Amino acid sequence: MKYDYIVIGAGAAGLSFAALMEKKGHSVLILEAHSIPGGCSSYFSRDGFIFDAGATTLSGLLPGRPLAELIAELNLDLNLVPVNPGLVSMFEGQTINRYRNTQEWVSELTKHFPNINHKIIWEKFKKIEVEGWNISTIFKKIPLRKINALFSFFRPELIKALFTLPTLFKSVESELNKHKIQDEKYLALVNELLFITSQNNAKDTPLLMGAMGLCYPEDTAYAMGGMKAFSESLAKKCTNIKYKQLVKKVIPIKKGSDGFIIETGKETFSAKRVVSTIPFWNHTDMFEADTAQEFFQTDKVTDPDKCWSAFMIYLTIPLDKERVGQYFQVHCKKILHCNTHSYFVSLSHPDDEIRSINGRQTVTISTHTHTKEWLSLGREDYLKQKERVKKFILNDLQQKFNLQESDLQNVFTGSPKTFYNYTKRYRGLVGGIPQSLKRNPLDLIIAKSPYKNFYMIGDTQYPGQGIAAVIMGAQNLVDQLSD
Ligand SMILES: Cc1cc2nc3c(=O)[nH]c(=O)nc-3n(C[C@H](O)[C@H](O)[C@H](O)COP(=O)(O)OP(=O)(O)OC[C@H]3O[C@@H](n4cnc5c(N)ncnc54)[C@H](O)[C@@H]3O)c2cc1C
Repeated sequence: MKYDYIVIGAGAAGLSFAALMEKKGHSVLILEAHSIPGGCSSYFSRDGFIFDAGATTLSGLLPGRPLAELIAELNLDLNLVPVNPGLVSMFEGQTINRYRNTQEWVSELTKHFPNINHKIIWEKFKKIEVEGWNISTIFKKIPLRKINALFSFFRPELIKALFTLPTLFKSVESELNKHKIQDEKYLALVNELLFITSQNNAKDTPLLMGAMGLCYPEDTAYAMGGMKAFSESLAKKCTNIKYKQLVKKVIPIKKGSDGFIIETGKETFSAKRVVSTIPFWNHTDMFEADTAQEFFQTDKVTDPDKCWSAFMIYLTIPLDKERVGQYFQVHCKKILHCNTHSYFVSLSHPDDEIRSINGRQTVTISTHTHTKEWLSLGREDYLKQKERVKKFILNDLQQKFNLQESDLQNVFTGSPKTFYNYTKRYRGLVGGIPQSLKRNPLDLIIAKSPYKNFYMIGDTQYPGQGIAAVIMGAQNLVDQLSD
């Protein structure tokens, strides 16, 4: 059978695209290397507990935003609980609650940093964030796949958006400098907050993306049942998913005009169009033609050495219904072998009857790390290094969360190697491409693909990383192909 679409990868991007296209009446087949859906927003079961493997928070749920629209359009069966505070920062002995409401957040910051005019700064960030989301709906036709799509930009809202576009070329730091902020502690807090979403610091993060990232805790929810519930609710909307099918070769017929043959080593499939959701660099060996191999190797925009992977710890702790917060950014001394100064702690919701069981909550801890710290190690050194990082973080966690060593149970770790094994992502790189002023914004606009009818979405493509962003990428492509 020749499918209308073959989708490579059953992560958030692939599942969203496939479900939406199937709803429009197209025949769609997803080929997924792993045995379950989700990719970086997947899960695993150990010792009777269900752990989120990577992503833990859902955002983009306010009206008109990508996940809200996806849930409504596909009628997804999800029980979402808004989280407030959306994030708790444990910072230099203080606990700072990042409330959903901007005014409450400003009051909280004023308590901790009384000499700064937070109202002006955060109202500006909020304004830019709202405009950022508006801009993303005006520019739904980015990347430009057809030149006449340019006309779709000319809407009344464009004028307003044009006033915000310069924030693409300024840094978050430049905005903070306007307010003459000298407080090193405050700047460190903002830098670490930014790092969660933009994967970069205030000096190099464009203000537009930075503001959107800094405001994400205002729009955060927990899915009861965790990422398993989220990914499975999407997978249920896709009739044809074949698991354990690692796509090895993509063979264009007449340069893609007549479709593609896809080989997985186990089976061969064919489709009129292919949508790949795997990272940009994963494609290099998939194509025979030198031109395609060159295309995927030489792109400077996506230099993999500048991208991140993650070190993970999974565990359970005693259930505590009184604890305020569910998502924590814990600031600490420089983490060994990771070169970061914070780690992110996600707890299963205390009332989640699937994941908070037997009087315990499941915990997913992540911190950024570069892959070169891990991939070159021999087995013994690798295990020792994992143990060192685990001990370092868990000692810190015990102190900050007031836990005894015996409270920490069912402990497992993951590294870039683990991500490579389970997601097949090149070098185990996860989390997309850091936002940077050094990236040319024009790269966002021009559709890049070596073949007609071969499309790429997912977190190394526009509009970037995060579940909301990759869903938006899928929605945009569905719109463009349905024109
Ligand atoms: C530790 C961590 C925490 C995060 N936290 C959050 C968060 O809280 N909230 C948030 O919004 N985002 C978060 N993110 C980012 C978010 O998870 C990702 O940006 C998003 O899930 C990426 O989705 P995707 O579909 O683009 O890619 P992926 O999820 O990587 O999906 C790609 C799929 O393709 C499959 N695949 C790979 N190669 C092949 C092949 N050759 N053939 C067939 N299949 C293949 C993989 O197995 C995978 O299932 C986090 C990421 C990480 C790593």
